[in-house]
Amino acid sequence: MDFDDRARLDPSQVEDVGGGRGRFGRGGIVVGGGAAGVIALILALIFGVNPGDITGGEEPAGLPPTSDLSARCRTGADADQSDKCRVVGVVNSIQKYWGEQIDGYTGAKTTLFSGGVRTGCGVADSSIGPFYCPRDKHVYLDLSFFDELRTRFGAGGGPFAQAYVIAHEYGHHAQDLLGTMDRVGQAPGAESGSVRLELQADCYAGVWAKNAVDTGFYAEPFSAADIREALDAAAAVGDDRIQEQVRGRVDPDAFTHGTSAQRTKWFTNGYSSGDPARCDTFSGSI
Ligand SMILES: [Zn+2]
Repeated sequence: MDFDDRARLDPSQVEDVGGGRGRFGRGGIVVGGGAAGVIALILALIFGVNPGDITGGEEPAGLPPTSDLSARCRTGADADQSDKCRVVGVVNSIQKYWGEQIDGYTGAKTTLFSGGVRTGCGVADSSIGPFYCPRDKHVYLDLSFFDELRTRFGAGGGPFAQAYVIAHEYGHHAQDLLGTMDRVGQAPGAESGSVRLELQADCYAGVWAKNAVDTGFYAEPFSAADIREALDAAAAVGDDRIQEQVRGRVDPDAFTHGTSAQRTKWFTNGYSSGDPARCDTFSGSI
């Protein structure tokens, strides 16, 4: 994954609040009952949509952003050299793509945070993993999740694994704008609306990957090795694999995001077609 050195980034699409806005002392946020609760949250919310129902906490004082991406992340060359600037480049490319696909597209800002953050969907802890909040139209991301993707979930990681995660969250933003999200309940299950929504977000991530070079931010199309990083990450966060790892057994009735095989299949459907219309996960078998 190589950015075009001359591409001009728009750093206003990403804010970095660090441990500032919404940083709480250890134990300051209740996200569940100890380790078991945290694991339950991870199962429920890896790449989830809305932590509002399960988080709580008090509102911290507003603090200014802790690092000024606008000064540091100006070009594609910057995106190749720094993790945070790479997020800016990825977000810019994804939103350029969806801006051309959806009439009246309105942007979603990505908020980088560390530890905990207050959101329009409640107070969130990093253990929830990256998520999209439809109420404030933000993607929330603690970059330490990418380390967890490797250490906890056994993914190979890499820049394109990260891009896949971000593209998945913007897939939820697209669903939000298109009204898809409103039609889906939160109940889990192998054939549930929740799983279908998540698999469509994976498909949308693949669609962006196919079209990314046309957004002008990349020097060349993604390589087969890049795509393998995304597929590897998608497989690592399949419901069946996580359940097996955490509980030692697989319970399809508790699926929220789809199996490893389904997640890789739908990313591939998106990537091979490059067409969001091929991401209908709501009819037929998944
Ligand atoms: Zn998701």
